Amino acid sequence: MDLCANLNHVRHRISAACVRSGRQAESVTLLAVSKGHPAEVVCAAAELGLSIFGENRVQEAKAKIGLCPGRLRWHLIGHLQSNKCRDAVHFFAMIQSVDSLALAREINRWADKSAKTMPVLIEVNVAGESSKFGYAPEKLLAELKEINSLPRIELHGLMTVAPFAQDAEKVRPVFRRMRELRGQCEDLLGAPLPVLSMGMSGDFEVAVEEGATMIRLGSAVLGPRTAPKPVAGDP
Ligand SMILES: *Cc1c(COP(=O)(O)O)cnc(C)c1O
Repeated sequence: MDLCANLNHVRHRISAACVRSGRQAESVTLLAVSKGHPAEVVCAAAELGLSIFGENRVQEAKAKIGLCPGRLRWHLIGHLQSNKCRDAVHFFAMIQSVDSLALAREINRWADKSAKTMPVLIEVNVAGESSKFGYAPEKLLAELKEINSLPRIELHGLMTVAPFAQDAEKVRPVFRRMRELRGQCEDLLGAPLPVLSMGMSGDFEVAVEEGATMIRLGSAVLGPRTAPKPVAGDP
């Protein structure tokens, strides 16, 4: 696998999508999804200039983070169980997968104990897929103010995992809906929500065209990963 070639290719595709949609390439942050990859791969990617990494399991991340340069920032992108909130607040710079008020309260509680604020995104299940976590849009609009009022929670925006589609064009309406929903949330709060985390290896160009400010790329940058191994303490 040639990390450097992958990264150049992906950066080129991001800029092309930005040109098509009249955006600045700097307006899109690339988060490298390192789940299923060992620390050595993260270190090699860090040498090439990547600095934000995404993990979907707290236990796997905990084991990996200590083996990687301390300057890297880690985002939790997978479902968080309340009994892992304490570690999540400690190890991650951002939790992108807040999917309930109860979870937001638990994160708030642990952040308060550490006297810090926790940057978060709210995960939205736009397509209503039963296999996925995330807020239904209507429920989010109903609970948004309450989440935002939690003193140790710093709400930065929204995140989604689009349905899988062979043809990424098919999920364009999902990304468009996310952008509209972000606007509705901003109106409700009377405050900006700058981050729209959407787009993965198979659909990131469409996501960028529809306004993604953060794309989460695993295989397109780091290559194929090993299937998730059950890790002690994970579901
Ligand atoms: C695994 C994962 C990704 C990256 O997937 P790729 O298809 O490898 O780019 C992005 N977001 C989330 C939430 C993931 O779990």
